[in-house]
Amino acid sequence: MDQKYLSVIDEKAQLLQETADYLWENPETAFTEFKSAERICKVLRDEGFAVEENLANIKTAFSGTYGSGKPVIGILGEYDALSGLGQVSGVTHAEPNGGECGHGCGHNLLGVGALGAAIAVKEWLKETGNPGTVVYFGTPGEEGGSGKGFMARDGVFDCLDAAITWHPADKTYIRTNLSLANYQILYKFDGIASHAGGKPELGRSALDACELMNVGVQFLREHIPSSCRIHYAITDAGGFSPNVVQPHAEVLYLIRAVDNKTVKSIYERVNDIAKGAALMTGTKESHDFIKACSNTVPNTVLQMMMYEKMHEIGSPEPTEEDLAFARKITAESLTQSPTADPDHPIWWEIDPYDHSEKQEHGSTDVGDVSWVCPTTHLSTASVARGTPPHSWQIVAQGKLPLAHRATRYAAKCIAAGAVELMTNPELLEKAKEEHRRRVGPEGYEAPIPKDVVPRSMDSLRK
Ligand SMILES: [Zn+2]
Repeated sequence: MDQKYLSVIDEKAQLLQETADYLWENPETAFTEFKSAERICKVLRDEGFAVEENLANIKTAFSGTYGSGKPVIGILGEYDALSGLGQVSGVTHAEPNGGECGHGCGHNLLGVGALGAAIAVKEWLKETGNPGTVVYFGTPGEEGGSGKGFMARDGVFDCLDAAITWHPADKTYIRTNLSLANYQILYKFDGIASHAGGKPELGRSALDACELMNVGVQFLREHIPSSCRIHYAITDAGGFSPNVVQPHAEVLYLIRAVDNKTVKSIYERVNDIAKGAALMTGTKESHDFIKACSNTVPNTVLQMMMYEKMHEIGSPEPTEEDLAFARKITAESLTQSPTADPDHPIWWEIDPYDHSEKQEHGSTDVGDVSWVCPTTHLSTASVARGTPPHSWQIVAQGKLPLAHRATRYAAKCIAAGAVELMTNPELLEKAKEEHRRRVGPEGYEAPIPKDVVPRSMDSLRK
């Protein structure tokens, strides 16, 4: 890709920075990203993209399309925040800003880096007149919502030949690690209220059922593959009165495993435990499937291509100002982090390509897109080395010059990768061949059942 088109990203630096800062200042959690989605849609329209909203019946899911014909390359943007992480910007200590949520995963940068990439590809298509279509996908609710899982289930990504995304991180690398599939389910128990002292024999405790279910699951852990994870949160303990037998209780479970099949088999066993807990306590059990996401299918062809682009473009070196801040936050607030390094506080150099496909124990809804089409994912050093994910430290660094520079670098790499796929049909075919082989003949089976609709955090909390 001609340098001229990549420099569009620098020319648009102010627009991109203002958009990312606006998202930071208006953090919104899963499926309530109304302001963020509106702002990104506005930029897309101003830049000449055809915007389609309400994808997969989700109010904050949208796309911006430019160009025509094949191939169709998707660029995935996220813009949701995390609850409980309101934090003052640019400080090196925890200082809540009074907000209910904050961009603790850097998605204010993620959404905007992807946007910058889509704009650069659009400029290239416009100037060269080459065939090809770029689609910016606004994908909400990555955190705890699996927005892309719902979108993939409803066929939103079926038009794509390939997809590219990125994530802000504490180092610059092409992601080859694998993420886990997961299911999230809300288990509810209904019992009978009664005076806990005077008439306990008439009560049936839903809270007891919850506790027995959790104990049952603790015993299950020994008998599942060690790479699996089961987490839970009690979202309704029944009330505040110990002298009442609790008539209702709820527990939200998150089950992770290497693939959808394994998650499903553990889910069935957890269902049995819930039924057992209900039987033991004389309560009634029911459950709501909340969401799911698939494990990631890696694509070495795309990863190697993107790795080359990352080198060709060159990772930006930090400035003295970046280093001074990074040293300060490392000394004051990253002392518990094993990878933080006061002598080299920003890991901006591109990490060597890692062929090992290590298993990570987190999940991403990019997994579902990676089942539908060849997909790749890079990361750029947007924060000090050793900054933990989902932390106030990420929020504090989300508007700094380093974050914006790393975002523009990611945008350039993605744009260059997308144009490579539009001009190199042999490479794209190789990526597709690898995708077919890795996915297997059964193809993608969406883990989210047809009748499940996305739920915001507030609706789960109520
Ligand atoms: Zn994230």
